[in-house]
Amino acid sequence: MIGYKENCLQGFWIRLSIPLVLVTLSTLLLWVVFSATPALLFMLLVLLIVMAHHARQLYRLGRWLLDARIETIPEAGGIWDEVFSQLYKMVKRHNQTKLELATELQHIEQATAALPEGVAILNEANRIEWCNPLAQQHFDLDPEHDFMQDITYLVRQPEFVEYLHESNFSEPLVMRPARHDDMVLSIKLIPYGVNKRLLISRDITQLERIEAMRRDFVANVSHELRTPLTVVNGFVENLQDMPDLNRDDARRALQLMAEQTRRMENLVADLLTLSHLESDQSPLLEETVDMGVLLDEVYREGQLLGGGLYSLRLEVASGAKLLGNREELRSAFGNLLSNAIRYTPKGGSILLRWAERGGQPVFSVQDSGIGIAAQHIPRLTERFYRVDRSRSRETGGTGLGLAIVKHIAMRHQAKLEVMSEEGRGSTFALVFPVKRSVR
Ligand code: ADP
Repeated sequence: MIGYKENCLQGFWIRLSIPLVLVTLSTLLLWVVFSATPALLFMLLVLLIVMAHHARQLYRLGRWLLDARIETIPEAGGIWDEVFSQLYKMVKRHNQTKLELATELQHIEQATAALPEGVAILNEANRIEWCNPLAQQHFDLDPEHDFMQDITYLVRQPEFVEYLHESNFSEPLVMRPARHDDMVLSIKLIPYGVNKRLLISRDITQLERIEAMRRDFVANVSHELRTPLTVVNGFVENLQDMPDLNRDDARRALQLMAEQTRRMENLVADLLTLSHLESDQSPLLEETVDMGVLLDEVYREGQLLGGGLYSLRLEVASGAKLLGNREELRSAFGNLLSNAIRYTPKGGSILLRWAERGGQPVFSVQDSGIGIAAQHIPRLTERFYRVDRSRSRETGGTGLGLAIVKHIAMRHQAKLEVMSEEGRGSTFALVFPVKRSVR
């Protein structure tokens, strides 16, 4: 490269010297043939013309530099041709580099836009130098107007402003953006370069929700276990303090203790069922279930549970078998039937039905029981959600039955439909996909 440049330079000097040598030789010739005056006048004239030519080219170069574009590079002959062609090559190289850099920048922008986190670059005065679309969304930024704006004017929450002015960023800041208070953001500031800072924001709404659910769940389980444990504990202490308690009182105490223990046993059994259903390690083992046989079993269990106090009917309107897990289906159907019995006053009627709706197999339990007010229906499948806490407890409910049914339905791609009217009864239906129907 250096050699090439030197060659060009040598060429330049030779090309520049040739006319000068020719003029000098011509002047000397004129001097010998005529005299010094015409020879010098000739030389002066030629030099003036050369100077005018160079001045003109310099002017064109200067004018071009004011708006240096490749398509307007001047053309000229002689050594200026060399200068302009070198300029042309230089501008072309420059444009090529610019294009490559722009493509590179575009790739980086595409990569940061695809990041699952918001990224913004702040300068030492907290002004936004750049941000990706997710950061715009998180902080409600307008890429056109908010460029180089102080971020503390745009995100004014005191905890955020305080965090920016801190010097220790090892812990992220968790906050709710002012305009999206249903969103929870985890924010981290990473200093880099000379006084630059990277502001990373992550939407942790879902994580926070799961964490809140987990906390509620632990609190609920503890609460559910505490009551029966307190009762049993009380009786045990009583029995210890009164060793000569009469037989009848002791039997009654033992009976009540057994009831509470059963309640805890039911709760633990339902919790284990739920955890098994939720675990990824328990895939659905499918078989073709003969619904006639299965429903007969569920019906007979229902009769035992109802103790002959209800008009319980079974209607098998479809001959379709069902592709699914027999034990899970039995648990879901049993839960729905047990609820119908527990929430229907004695003497009420309950109908178990196996039918088809537009090719979709449907299992339903219809009761003439207490029904459910509309506002409770969307929340029934939440764990421990009960409309009437004491009625649920009195009848041995754990508050987990419908959560279990919902999980089983999901594992079978089925939908749980609830139709109910307060005081008039309810219908719970499991609607299975057509592909699960076996003829
Ligand atoms: P529980 O053990 O309390 O019955 P579930 O999860 O099975 O828990 O049901 C949740 C709540 O839904 C019950 O507490 C009850 O209020 C309501 N529920 C469920 N099934 C019926 C029904 N057939 N009739 C009226 N209310 C019902």
